[in-house]
Amino acid sequence: MSTSTSPHSDPSGALSGAGTVTDRLVEANLRYAAGFTDPGMDARPVLKVAVVACMDARLDLHAALGLELGDSHTIRNAGGVVTDDVIRSLTISQRALGTRSIMLVHHTNCGLESLTEEFRHELEVEVGQRPAWAVEAFRDVDQDVRQSMQRVRTSPFLLHVGDVRGFVFDVKQGVLREIDPA
Ligand SMILES: [Zn+2]
Repeated sequence: MSTSTSPHSDPSGALSGAGTVTDRLVEANLRYAAGFTDPGMDARPVLKVAVVACMDARLDLHAALGLELGDSHTIRNAGGVVTDDVIRSLTISQRALGTRSIMLVHHTNCGLESLTEEFRHELEVEVGQRPAWAVEAFRDVDQDVRQSMQRVRTSPFLLHVGDVRGFVFDVKQGVLREIDPA
């Protein structure tokens, strides 16, 4: 995620004209479906890998990692943080759908670097209810990747934690940098 652009800006004109942005996406789907042929794939990822990554719009996970349709599970949220819900998805990925490897991808210039847990307090003041979830803000992206690797490796629910690797994707260079878990 990024806080560097205004959600109200519309440089591409995507929101102008007849429909909403969702209308535009639905129209794109009609073109996609017109050229679509059933690849006849099983739901089990071909490469037996699950990738956990930030939802950042600048990270094209399939292109950046050379992934093809059917290759992997991709699990994304703000920060690529290993939350309980990510553990839920990884557990299903491994136990029901046969994945064996886990790759964690955080990135430079993440929006979570500009937030603090104070964000929760501000929400509580505004809406009268404190969210149950942590913001998971961080200052040191390398340390955040290490924490995520640790959460995966210590989960009692996962069957396979022997191949867990963590990376930082540079949004300016397009390159991954691996993080030493130690
Ligand atoms: Zn991010």
